[in-house]
Amino acid sequence: MNKTFKVIAPPVIIMLIVIFGFGVTGCNQPDAGEINHRQPGNTEAGNQPQTETVNSAKLNIHFLELGNQYTGDSIYINYGDVDILIDAGSRQSSATTIRAYIDNHIKDNKLEYVIVTHAHQDHIAGFNNSSPITGLFAYEIGTIIDFPKTNSASATYNSYKSAIAAAVKMGAVHYTALQCFNNENGAQREYELGGGVKLEILYNYYYDHSQNNGENDYSVCLRIVQNGNQYIFTGDLEKDGEDRLVDYYAKNFGGLGHCVLYKAGHHASVTSSNTKLMSAITPEYVCVTACAGTSEYTTNNPVKFPSQDFVNRVAPYTDKVFVTTYAGNYPQFESFNGNIVFSVSDGKFDIQCSNNNLKLKETKWFKENRTMPVSWK
Ligand SMILES: [Zn+2]
Ligand SMILES: [Zn+2]
Repeated sequence: MNKTFKVIAPPVIIMLIVIFGFGVTGCNQPDAGEINHRQPGNTEAGNQPQTETVNSAKLNIHFLELGNQYTGDSIYINYGDVDILIDAGSRQSSATTIRAYIDNHIKDNKLEYVIVTHAHQDHIAGFNNSSPITGLFAYEIGTIIDFPKTNSASATYNSYKSAIAAAVKMGAVHYTALQCFNNENGAQREYELGGGVKLEILYNYYYDHSQNNGENDYSVCLRIVQNGNQYIFTGDLEKDGEDRLVDYYAKNFGGLGHCVLYKAGHHASVTSSNTKLMSAITPEYVCVTACAGTSEYTTNNPVKFPSQDFVNRVAPYTDKVFVTTYAGNYPQFESFNGNIVFSVSDGKFDIQCSNNNLKLKETKWFKENRTMPVSWK
């Protein structure tokens, strides 16, 4: 250490403390142009010793990029020692990407809950990696909750069934969302995660009614509830399922109520996030698991994910909309926000993304491909 460094070091250190201290406390509302190069693995108080009493635990909800050009869902939630995985991406190889991420966070090698929303490939394929090293069921698995109904006979779905059977043989408990909702056979509608936080399986009419209009309305719906705040996940539920969901809670529970976080249904497709659901839950943060601008399902620009209709319906409630990946030059892809980590600590909400913290409306893609709603101007 030379003399010059000794002289200048204290002011530099103070400056760094001021810059980083301000950056961390000032990021609850991501600013336009704010760039964050923190790795997702560091968002969980990685630089500070974390006291692991459950009451002070940080709740983290991670919307994962899947490392390919395909749209798909995989959401990892950790709270204290409780680890939850919702869906596993669109390809068998997604398991490797998901595991590489979870490995940075999981402490006891156990996924307490695995939730599988519906039988579409972009939600179940990652479960089909049966490797005892790279497969998701190589973790110890607690409770698997999946969709009660499907019309699927795909090879991917058949492989999924085998993977679940193998996980059960290894000790996992397996319930359908209908069993959970009805509190049947040991299944529970609500699971306590500690510290007053709970995982609740929500009603879906299509848990026990047939839907011939595709698989999406069979989606398992759930919410995490914490100190009166709720974070809602509806898989790929579409308008019919959404409307029935809203009606059921309006009739029986006085309504779903405001939600802090909403996982955009069906990757922000035109078919989901409809007016009735949005007015019932008035979302504050919306996270989209999709490749923005992708031509995977359509070449019709306004309906590409995230669709113009989705934007128009969400805009009255929030402009805090974030999207994992960009595939405007499909099949090329790159990070959009990247892995999106929504976290709650001491009652404060925060969004930190691995690539940048731009709101959707601030992105170049949005400005070139979508019409800015009046309430976002
Ligand atoms: Zn999907
Ligand atoms: Zn689907």
